Amino acid sequence: MNSSLNSRTLFQAALLQSLVLGHYEGSVEVKELKRQGDFGIGTFDSLDGELIMCRGRVYQVNGRGEVKEADDRWKVPFADVFFFETDRTLPMKDISSLDELREKADGFIKNWGPNYFYGIRVHGTFEKVYARSEKAQKKPYARLDEVMKKDQVEFQFEHTKGTLIGLYCPSFMGGLNMPGYHFHYLSDDRKEGGHVFDVCMKEGKAEFCLLSDFKLKLPRSSGFGKIDFN
Ligand SMILES: [Zn+2]
Repeated sequence: MNSSLNSRTLFQAALLQSLVLGHYEGSVEVKELKRQGDFGIGTFDSLDGELIMCRGRVYQVNGRGEVKEADDRWKVPFADVFFFETDRTLPMKDISSLDELREKADGFIKNWGPNYFYGIRVHGTFEKVYARSEKAQKKPYARLDEVMKKDQVEFQFEHTKGTLIGLYCPSFMGGLNMPGYHFHYLSDDRKEGGHVFDVCMKEGKAEFCLLSDFKLKLPRSSGFGKIDFN
């Protein structure tokens, strides 16, 4: 399953831009995501929480902050997954913010080639992790910015051990995803997680995985086919 052909391909279901415009209908099953990777981020049908794929298992952090393993039949409206292989490792110590972590990663990636995708796995102990999830939405769906105003739920985890699941997208990805970094968090005890706003990290290590292939799967629906992206 983890053939060399697909091991370095970033698989993306739909577009971040379709999600931003309120298209939350799931189009790809969790089972399919597991064929495309063992590591990644996304969300679930009707925007029912944050998706975290870590070591081949898929977890949902719902709007109450509960973490549970996702069913293979659940569908996702947006996700990025791939098979993580460690190219390089960077020790991390006393990182006071997500900005500082980004700067460290930037120093590395700018040098290596900012025009590739990078998977970033950061495992360690954290003094604090600020994260969020969101409550599932009902149709007709509002745009993502409207949803976040009323249904975003914020969490603050303290003295937690776990993994940041990160993706870096190059600047030319502006129409398909968000250029720059996107991190989710999952604690080792699988009780805490979410989309990450900020962190304060004591120590650990960051692993980087360069990805040069990109596979995009667009939803086959009239809803998606007629979205006005302009
Ligand atoms: Zn996220």
